[in-house]
Order: sequence, then structure tokens, then C-alpha cells
Amino acid sequence: MKENIRKVFADRFGTAGTLYASAGRINLIGEHTDYNGGFVFPGAIDKVIMAEMKANGTDKVRVFSIDINEYAEFGLNEEDAPKQQWARYIFGVCREIIKRGGVVNGFDAVFAGNVPLGAGLSSSAALESCFAFALNDMFNDNKIDKFELAKIGQSTEHNYCGVNCGIMDQFASVFGKKDHLMRLDCRSLEYEYFPFKLDGYKLVLVDSKVKHELVDSPYNKRRASCENVARTLGVETLRDAEMADLEKIKDRISEEDYNRAVYVIGEKQRVLDVCDALQKGDYDTVGDRMYKTHEGMSKLYEVSCEELDYLNDIAKECGVTGSRIMGGGFGGCTINLVKDDLYDSFIATAKEKFNARYGHEPVVYDVIVSDGARRVE
Ligand code: ADP
Ligand code: MG
Repeated sequence: MKENIRKVFADRFGTAGTLYASAGRINLIGEHTDYNGGFVFPGAIDKVIMAEMKANGTDKVRVFSIDINEYAEFGLNEEDAPKQQWARYIFGVCREIIKRGGVVNGFDAVFAGNVPLGAGLSSSAALESCFAFALNDMFNDNKIDKFELAKIGQSTEHNYCGVNCGIMDQFASVFGKKDHLMRLDCRSLEYEYFPFKLDGYKLVLVDSKVKHELVDSPYNKRRASCENVARTLGVETLRDAEMADLEKIKDRISEEDYNRAVYVIGEKQRVLDVCDALQKGDYDTVGDRMYKTHEGMSKLYEVSCEELDYLNDIAKECGVTGSRIMGGGFGGCTINLVKDDLYDSFIATAKEKFNARYGHEPVVYDVIVSDGARRVE
């Protein structure tokens, strides 16, 4: 990828620039916790967006996307927004830096990536944080702090791409560190690194390639349930609730809302359990909590689907250490913690069984927890 980017940049712009990269991400555990003020536990992965960049002394950005094979050229004022969706991510990052008082001058860029698009690994956050990091280095003496870089990516999604996302993806992409996961407290935005160097295990994503479009906005309904239970408990978010509190108000809320809250309160504890277990190298407990999260998402929070439940069942039957839906639900990937010696048979079985039932094979991505945004030498 690096050599190709260098060649395309040289052919197009007749010079050489600096290489930057940022990564996609996984989330080991902590799902639907962000809007409840809870914890998430992401890490950056060895799938990246890489860009070669150089200031061009004009007030224009000229950028070529190798993967989409398209060129875009745009100015840096609000009315200069490009038409191509992929270029809007870059334009948005430039605008968000400028809005915060930072400097962006004209530059040339060529970029490519291997983060699968729309698979739940957050290729968009990788793209935003690659450019945010690079523009901070090129034009701002790295004065913009890392949290601000993540927020620049998040605001880009909100203001230029119509995606009302939380901060986790950009946070993971900017702060990611090789062999470490990060527990992010979504209430205080405090974070802590935990070593995650898999010895004897692999982390593998199995992408069902299904995405169920649902008519009645289940995401908003789940949020409303959580808010309703929090209000009844007299707390700001479910982060502040314990299972015993919930039992006391059980007869004042619907069974559905009760189940939603049991999942969220349980998930808060499961993230903490996993952090504890990782420090002891106890991967069986990590895996157990992953399965429990899946079960909760399926039966209590009801955001799974048949295909993902099937993948989870296959993992269990194969003796996989841990497996669960990754992401909001209703489709996408499962994340699996698999012993090295089970890996081949699990993948073969998952492909064969899933194909026999649904008529297509799931797509498999091996991931290694790696560095996030950086300069590439
Ligand atoms: P994801 O879940 O992967 O973040 P999104 O729909 O949020 O999916 O973002 C995908 C979008 O990001 C693509 O449609 C494209 O505009 C942009 N993008 C991601 N990776 C690349 C790439 N390698 N080259 C060009 N654009 C990319
Ligand atoms: Mg995205």
C-alpha cells in the first residue's frame, strides 16, 4: 500500500510528501453503554487508511482516492464542500480544524486503505483521524490535543456526513496503541490502557454481510427505555444504577424497560470484569463475558438477529472462547476470541454452516490490536 501511494503521489504531483496513517477499530465489550454514561473497551486494529500529503502553497485541497479512483479539488471555505461523499470526510476535518481556530492551508494528498467499508470497523473514523492527525502535524505544530482530534472527526460525521455518532470510534482511532485496549468512560471521558497481547489466541471478526433495515427506529426506542428507567430511579443515566435499585422499582416500569436496564447495568459490570480478567491473563472469563453480552443483546436488549445468533451458536459449538455481536446490532459482525488451534476448524465450520442456511458465506477478518493515528516512516 505504502509503495503504491508513493508512486501515485509522485506521478500526480511530481514530488514527495509525508506519509500518515490511522486505523479502524474493534470494541471487545461494552455495547449500547455509551449513551448510558457507561464504559466501552475499544482498540485500534491493523487495518488502516494511509495518506501521503504535502502543503501545496495554494488555498486549494487536491486529493486522490486510490480505492475509489476519484479525484477531488476543493477550497477551504464553508461553501466549497465537495460533492463526493468520501471527500466530504476530508473537507469536514479541514473545516472543523479551522472552526476551532486551527490552521489548514492548501495541500495535495493521495490515500488508500484496507479497513473494510461499512463492516463495523469504522473506516470513516480511520479516514477522519488520519487527516486530522496529519493536518495537526503539517500546519499546527501538533498543538491540537488528541481528544480534540477525535472530536474533530466526530463533528465531521455530525456536520458534514449526517451521522450522529458517539466519540468511541474516533477516540480509538486516534489513541490506539499496539497490544493495548482502552477502557473509555463515556461519562467523564477518562480512559485507561490495558495490555492486550494475545498469546495463543486470535481475534477474528465474522461478518454476516446482513443488515436489517428496521422501520420503527429501535435505536431511539432503546434509548427511550433507558432514559425512562433512569428517570424512575431518579438518576441521570443507568451508569448510576445497580441491579438492587432496579429490583426496587420493578413494578413501576414495563417488563420490556426492565429487561433493557438489566442488560445495560449488567454490561457495565461485564466491562469491568473483562478488564480485571485481562490483568490476570484469564481469557476464559473474558470469553464468558463476551457470550453473556451476546445473550443480553439478543434476549434482553433485543438488538440481535437470526443470522448473528446463529454465528454465536456455531462459535459456542466449536468451543470458541468468546463470541458476541459487535456494534449496535441487527446485522454486521461477531467478534470472536479463538484459541489458535481451533481457528481453522471454527472458520471452516462457520463458513459452511452459515452458507448452507443463508446462501452466502460470512466474510472473515483477522485483526491484531495495533497503533492508531501516526506518522509513517
Ligand atoms: P464504516 O462503518 O466503515 O465507518 P461508513 O459508512 O461510516 O462505514 O464510512 C464509509 C465511508 O468512508 C465510505 O463510503 C467512504 O466515503 C469513506 N471511506 C472509507 N474508507 C475509504 C477508502 N479506503 N477510500 C475512500 N473512502 C473511504
Ligand atoms: Mg463510520
